[in-house]
Amino acid sequence: MEFGIVFANIASLALLLAIAFLSFRRKTQAGAVEFGIVALFGFALSLCSFFEIEARAFESMLLWRNITQVGAFYIPAAVFVFALAYTGSRMALIRAVGAGLYAFQSIPLALILTDQAHHLMRSSVGAIISKAGFAAISVKQTFLGAVFVSINYVVIAASIVILVLFAIKAGAIARRQVLIIVVGIMIPETVLAMKNMFGDGFLGGVPGSSAFAIGSSIVVAGIYGFGFLSISPIARDRAFDVIDEGLLVCSPKGHVIDLNPAARTMLARHIDVSPEELGPAAYGDRLRRGLGRELASRCVAEEVRFCLPLSGRAGTAHYALRAYELKNGISIVGYTGVLRDVSDETTRTELLTAKAERDSLTGIYNRSAFSEIVGERLLLSTEGAFLLVLDIDDFKSINDTYGHLAGDMVLKGVSECCRKTLRGNDVFGRIGGDEFAAFLPGIEKDNALPLAQRIRSSVERARIEFEGRRLSATISVGLAGTGRAADLPRAPGYEALFSKADAALYRSKENGRNQVTISDGDSFVEPDPERPR
Ligand code: GH3
Ligand code: MG
Repeated sequence: MEFGIVFANIASLALLLAIAFLSFRRKTQAGAVEFGIVALFGFALSLCSFFEIEARAFESMLLWRNITQVGAFYIPAAVFVFALAYTGSRMALIRAVGAGLYAFQSIPLALILTDQAHHLMRSSVGAIISKAGFAAISVKQTFLGAVFVSINYVVIAASIVILVLFAIKAGAIARRQVLIIVVGIMIPETVLAMKNMFGDGFLGGVPGSSAFAIGSSIVVAGIYGFGFLSISPIARDRAFDVIDEGLLVCSPKGHVIDLNPAARTMLARHIDVSPEELGPAAYGDRLRRGLGRELASRCVAEEVRFCLPLSGRAGTAHYALRAYELKNGISIVGYTGVLRDVSDETTRTELLTAKAERDSLTGIYNRSAFSEIVGERLLLSTEGAFLLVLDIDDFKSINDTYGHLAGDMVLKGVSECCRKTLRGNDVFGRIGGDEFAAFLPGIEKDNALPLAQRIRSSVERARIEFEGRRLSATISVGLAGTGRAADLPRAPGYEALFSKADAALYRSKENGRNQVTISDGDSFVEPDPERPR
């Protein structure tokens, strides 16, 4: 026999044995043990047909041919049991169907082994002697024999149907896995069928064992190829469906190709479609671009929070995402992500943050938020700015005369007057008691002073309604500037600027209240024409 064929046979036998060994060791994987049995029968069949080819005498050849039939008839039964086990059928069903199938397949096997007595399976068995002296057995089947052999193919086809039906229902990854397994099963079966039809010379005499070994390797790759499938695909798919966290699968290019019901429900809230509508065909461009890109670009296996530009009835969407690479051992085949909707959490946090930095009476920034924000703005500033500090004049007497509630109304009224006069970019806060401060960025002395005067006079003119009374108040103002842009590196920080403005305010109080003083000792008293003196 040709060296090539001997080598192919021996290599295939070793591979089949290794596959059987590997399958039995990884018995926790769905269908692994059952496939190990398929590989063992494949090994037995290949070994016997190897011995048959190697044998020189007709009788021993026929003996090996007969023993080969054990594998030939039990492999379809083993494949069927594997298909049931792999697709997660109940153990009792697998046992019952398995026992029935093996029992049924034993009938043709018994008939073949005893054929010489009755010739029910084979009408003739002859020897072919070639010119080179190579001998082979030529078997002619009876009609019954042909029927039993055909049943083998029907059982294999049924196994493939079970796998394909499972694949249709399964998720995208399980589907690929099943497809690989189906191809692996079909390769040796097709080669054997062709050999049956066209004789052993089909495919240049490549031994059937090689087709078995190649097919089995593909099946094994299908079962184990995706490292993360350590439990049965059914269980994995079920978990995908029932888990509360959103799960996504996307292609290497960032296209969302699968998402579980939890992810659908989560995302549907924000794009105003029903979860069912958010099927694979209609993920929508925004989702595809937004989520897929996040998934592909932020694959760091640690949670990242991001905001998707989706706005539905539930408001702006905020998500927390953990993304992971999916590798097939060589390259990245996609990404999977765990998604949590943190929109409510984020809104709550934003509200709490807002609450923490606001003054409860006036709704403007409180002291700590004001100093933090202005401190940062001063550090980053590339232009001159002014700090304005103001304090209500004789506020105690308002409290004493009209009561604390009236005082509160005046505080609110003064705050409102200032807010209306200040510009959008200005920062305004209540420093404490009846003292307020405003940060005026991008402003020179020539503009800062008139702005401060406008604030002072608007407070003076305002009438604050309280229990049928119209209360009025005045304020004293202090101003201090950071200097021009060129002087910024030497500009005072927040604390220093505040002390200067506060000192100016003190001067305003000293000089008679209801006036504006700018720091550096220059006092500007600009009484309003309407102001009673
Ligand atoms: P001056 O012109 O020198 O500022 O005199 P003033 O009476 O306004 O003196 P000061 O600024 O020291 O008075 C602050 C008062 O504001 C004392 C305190 O009872 C009162 N106050 C502080 N916080 C509140 C508040 O939230 N509501 C009310 N109604 N009064 C407050
Ligand atoms: Mg005061």
